[in-house]
Order: sequence, then C-alpha cells, then structure tokens
Amino acid sequence: MSSKSLDSFLQQNLDDLKDKGLYNVIDPLESPNGPMITIGGRELINLSSNNYLGLATDQRLKDVANQAIEKYGVGAGAVRTINGTLDLHVQLEEKLAEFKHTEAAIAYQSGFNCNMAAISAVMDKNDAILSDELNHASIIDGCRLSKAKIIRVNHSDMDDLRAKAKEATESGLYNKVMVITDGVFSMDGDIAKLPEIVEIAEEFDLITYVDDAHGSGVLGEGAGTVKHFGLSDKVDFQIGTLSKAIGVVGGYVAGKKDLIDWLKVRSRPFLFSTSLTPADVAASKKAIEILMESTELNERLWENANYLKKGLVSLGFDIGASETPITPCIIGDEVKTQEFSKRLNEEGVYAKSIVFPTVPRGTGRVRNMPSAAHTKEMLDKAIGIYEKVGKELGII
Ligand SMILES: *Cc1c(COP(=O)(O)O)cnc(C)c1O
Repeated sequence: MSSKSLDSFLQQNLDDLKDKGLYNVIDPLESPNGPMITIGGRELINLSSNNYLGLATDQRLKDVANQAIEKYGVGAGAVRTINGTLDLHVQLEEKLAEFKHTEAAIAYQSGFNCNMAAISAVMDKNDAILSDELNHASIIDGCRLSKAKIIRVNHSDMDDLRAKAKEATESGLYNKVMVITDGVFSMDGDIAKLPEIVEIAEEFDLITYVDDAHGSGVLGEGAGTVKHFGLSDKVDFQIGTLSKAIGVVGGYVAGKKDLIDWLKVRSRPFLFSTSLTPADVAASKKAIEILMESTELNERLWENANYLKKGLVSLGFDIGASETPITPCIIGDEVKTQEFSKRLNEEGVYAKSIVFPTVPRGTGRVRNMPSAAHTKEMLDKAIGIYEKVGKELGII
C-alpha cells in the first residue's frame, strides 16, 4: 500500500506540469550519442549533446577503457579513502593538474557531485558566497548545502559584483567571502568576465571558484576559460567535468596542493561514495592526453561551430550573445519554440527547446551543440532544415 499523501502530491503535480506543457518526455537513444543519433528507428542529426569533441565514441578511449576493465574489473570496490583509490585514479589526477596548470587535482564521480563536495568542504554558515544568477543548478545546490549566505549577483554585471563584494567584506559579518561563476554559461554560450572578476577578488580578498564544465576542451586551446584569459595562477578553484568535452563521466577540482589535500579529507562524496570506475578513469585520462598532445579536435569544433553560426545568422536567426560553440536560436514565444523543435525533429534535426523557467519568459530558444564530429554535409543539411522550418513558422 502506498501513501495517500504521496499519491495525491504526485498526481496533482504531474498533471499540473502536463497541463502547462512543461512535462519533459525523454527520448531514449538506440545508438551512441554521436553526430547522428537513432531515436524510434529514425536517424537524426544530433545538435543536443555535450560531446563537443566526439570523444564519447573515440576508439582510443574505448580501447583503454576495455583494457582497464580487463585489468581492474568494472567497479572500484570502495570509496576513495578506504581502498577504492586505484593507481589509475592517481594518474588521472596528476594528468588533470598538468592539463589545468595547477599543483594538484581531485576527481569526483560527476561535475554535479564535485560542486556538492567542494563548496561545502570550504564554506560554512559564517561565510558568504557571491553567485552569478545564471550559475548552474549544481552550484546553487552546493552553495545551499554549505549553509553560507548566498548573495545573488546580476548576470555578468561587474558593477553589481563589486558593490556586493564591498558590502559583504566590509560588513564584518563573514569570515570568508567567495565569488563563484560558470566559466561558460550553458544557455546563452557567453563567457564569464574572468579578468574583472579576478581583479575584484584581489581587491576584496575573495576566494575565486570557476566551474568550467562547458569551457574545458573548448576554450584556451582545450585547457579552459581560465587558461583562455591567462589566469591559471589566480583562480583558487578550477572545476571541470569529465562528462562533456572529455566524453566520459566525472568531475574534478584543480588548484593548490593544500586545497586538494583538504578536499581529500573533508569532501563528503570523496569520503562516502564509491569512486569512479576503472573504465571511466582510464578513458578520461586518455582524453586529457589527446587534448594535451594536439589541438586538432578543438580546432575542428570551432570550425564547425563558426560554420553553423554563420549559416543560421545569414538565414536571419537570432543566436543571441553566444561566444562559444553553444548556439541558441532564440524564438521567443514558448509554444512556438516547442513547435519549432518538434518540426526540426520531424525533418531530421534533434535540437531541444529550452523555455521558461530554465530561461527567462519570452526568450525560448532551440539550443544547438555542434561538435568536432559533425561533417560539413551534416551541418549543411541541418541549416537547410532550419531554413525550411523557419520559413514555415514565420520566424525568418
Ligand atoms: C553540466 C554541468 C555540471 C554537471 O556536470 P556533470 O559531470 O554532468 O555532473 C556542473 N556544472 C556546470 C556549470 C555544468 O554545465
């Protein structure tokens, strides 16, 4: 027998979402998440994955993952601090520190997990966090978990950040104050103003925390947004994910050795949740090696991104403030945005609509994620479908 209060809660809220057209139906893939995907037996051009460099299906990663499974098995068997640390984990962390130009690094089971882990290991109820209003959900949850005072900062508004940093540090209310930001914002594809943020942080002695989930593998010739601005020695926490451009799964913090030593004894997902699997770790390490050896995939990503952007802009689409491969096509009206995405799908392009409350009302968009693995033919075909559907729905 199930709880009546739970049943009524679920039914009411699910019905409500469905009535408002906000209930997300998940389409399972019958193929790898590559440049083309198969859903419901139909092959579609995939413009929705975070597999920026095509590494999720790279044969070199698959080979080392298979070898790691043969040697170590499928699971690590324990949390990192008991005996779930394989030599592979240590090697990955050394490689990540090298990749990020920091003294050390620590890996977690996901990027989401990493923000839960790292923020609350350092910040507590006597501290304050200045957080950009468009920061990722995992940053918001990590901040909440820490019990620090959360001070929302208007998106990339440096005057607002400076004023709030001054107020927080001069109030005498807080032991420590942190400024936290995405490196690249995933809904618009704009880049955080890190040089100004670092300058303000220096002025007010703020702890700096940059979550570069969408910047690593993409900006700074692959090393990320912090490297892109030449600030590797000026950011305390560099967060990355192994789940996006790296093509596998996991998250990490790169920073000073003392910081990483502290996280190894104080961050709860490291202490209480089983470590990344051997295959994940081996494949991630290989991906980082590939990025450090050659910028070829990175260059191809940018070439494809610029090609798609140019094609869409010349058709008259509004791609907003994007400075990265993330290419929103801003439609505006929520219902029309959803209709647009549905028609693209019927014509052969998989690009998801993103509407309120994920983005502000009236700024509904279809978000496109080009990758290094797309061919010009695929992009041309996608642009052609955009033209057809855009004219059909009166958007261009
Ligand atoms: C995607 C994302 C994460 C979550 O990373 P996962 O490895 O998928 O858990 C965290 N932070 C930001 C900014 C992200 O974009």
